[in-house]
Amino acid sequence: MKELIGLSREALTEEMIALGQKAFRAKQLWQWLYFFGETNFDKMTNLGKSLREELKKNYTITRPKVITEQTSTDGTRKWLVEFADGARVECVYIPESDRGAVCISTQVGCAQGCKFCHTGTQKCQRNLTAGEIVGQVMVARDSYGEWPTKTDENRMLSNIVVMGMGEPLCNFDNLKKALAILNDGDGMAISKRKITVSTAGRADKIPELADMGVKLAVSLHAPNNEIRDQIMPINHKFNLEKLIKACHEYQARSERRAFITMEYVMLKSINDSLVCAEELTHLVKGLEVKFNLIPFHPWPGCPFEPSSHNQMQKFSKFLESKYFAAPIRRSRGQDIMAACGLLKSATQK
Ligand code: SAH
Ligand code: SF4
Repeated sequence: MKELIGLSREALTEEMIALGQKAFRAKQLWQWLYFFGETNFDKMTNLGKSLREELKKNYTITRPKVITEQTSTDGTRKWLVEFADGARVECVYIPESDRGAVCISTQVGCAQGCKFCHTGTQKCQRNLTAGEIVGQVMVARDSYGEWPTKTDENRMLSNIVVMGMGEPLCNFDNLKKALAILNDGDGMAISKRKITVSTAGRADKIPELADMGVKLAVSLHAPNNEIRDQIMPINHKFNLEKLIKACHEYQARSERRAFITMEYVMLKSINDSLVCAEELTHLVKGLEVKFNLIPFHPWPGCPFEPSSHNQMQKFSKFLESKYFAAPIRRSRGQDIMAACGLLKSATQK
């Protein structure tokens, strides 16, 4: 039996042709899978009885298994899902007033080991497949009953942020495949501009995100190599010079004007002084960026403390005085450990 979810459009077409079908059958099947979100072959009435029987004999349509679903007092919803081999990840839906973002994972655990990140304390077990990445968005749509919806505009689940567990650019091939499936206009039709990929700093891969047309967020978190080396091991390989150069290349290669979101987790007495803020403004000179100041979310055993609200506000005001957008990100879903950096396959076996 072969799993259909995660096959590229081309691969699905090849499968249908191998079954002796015309190519347009692949389009119909694709619509059942990704537009209607159908998991039962018997309901795919326009495919004909004999083809449906054939499909049932050879293929499966699998969703990740939902182990727990929790909804925060602020409306944030988190799922712990399990894949066929027992591996588990978390994904989150973060609602805004009239829309919202699904935050998805790309790896089981993470090998980057950033010192402030809870996910980083769990070693990387494996990469997720394209189907497993897409499957998380499908679970969210199932949960909100959002099949089918025609455009980004009339969906609650309008945006995708690749900011869950794992470093997405360390699983780039599967990520690319997954984003192509999510973006396909006959299926889930999530436009590229509504997809943001966050990286801890794989400078070698960043420019390619411009060719894919998706938005870039960088986990910057420090204004110089001295601080960044201490909190993010990836900086030893890709230092700030390399990272900033890659950001310039991303913007030069982007078709549309593409602001980069610079994520900056505020760690008390580590990176939150106004000297740091000043240094930041020089670091990003010539780039079109907005800062996103993230309150640090402590976890048991973590070596840092959050900056005070007062300090965060001063930091934000300083950046704004230099004409940068620098909002302090509202923490969401903290009561269910769904906030940034807290995801973990908590009930790991
Ligand atoms: N691995 C990718 C994407 C997932 S992390 C990356 O690092 O960019 C999503 C964001 O949460 C990143 O900016 C990350 O640095 C931040 N983060 C990690 N741990 C955190 C914590 N304890 N509190 C607040 N933000 C955290
Ligand atoms: Fe991995 Fe991102 Fe956490 Fe760093 S911040 S350990 S890259 S998930």
